[in-house]
Amino acid sequence: MTHYKSIVVLTGAGISAESGIQTFRASDGLWEEHRIDEVATPEGFKKNPALVQQFYNARRDALLHERIAANPAHMALAQLEREWLTRPGHQFLLITQNIDDLHERAGSEKLIHMHGELLKMRCELSQQVFTIHHDIGGDDICACCGEKGRLRPHIVWFGEMPLKLEQIYRALANCDLFLSVGTSGNVYPAAGFAQEAKQADAYTVEINLEPTKQNDLFDKHFYGKAGETLPAFVDSLLSR
Ligand SMILES: [Zn+2]
Repeated sequence: MTHYKSIVVLTGAGISAESGIQTFRASDGLWEEHRIDEVATPEGFKKNPALVQQFYNARRDALLHERIAANPAHMALAQLEREWLTRPGHQFLLITQNIDDLHERAGSEKLIHMHGELLKMRCELSQQVFTIHHDIGGDDICACCGEKGRLRPHIVWFGEMPLKLEQIYRALANCDLFLSVGTSGNVYPAAGFAQEAKQADAYTVEINLEPTKQNDLFDKHFYGKAGETLPAFVDSLLSR
């Protein structure tokens, strides 16, 4: 069996859904009954900042509810990172499209939130990022510049560039195992990552509830809940 050295993992909505988090439904373009152009675009924020803040306040409340917790799939990825990085010359990067903090709660550290983070706000003037656990109003005063209404959710909205793409593509070009978990492969640029990994001659593995359009890009598939299939896969990787 091949001995991998550099693992890149991509996670998507599926892994959060297993923890009870509601995400954007591509099928009807709604997110918790709100239209995406109203709550997840720069234009929507400009038009009605109070509504947008309210929307993310509610998402933040839901995420911080006591019933929401990391699930065995999040735990398995954190364990993989921890043990993988004790091996000389081994590398690991977790890229998530999710904006919740469940990977952090499970203990993941080598982590990129390419679509931003629900528990952070950003000043539009200084680009400084703040961690917040409380509600934000449409004209709250920013702690860095003292201006009203400059704080926006640190979320990559539709029409905006995902974060840290350079670092992501560098890792993909150097990985020999690419693992995709709970992602439909419909949203670019993340949908192109499997292709990038294949070009780097990586072995590609997909864990998803059902086959996706990207079926052909993966060498191996596990269909089922990530919380059930991923811990066993991680065990097999770590027992080599
Ligand atoms: Zn500011």
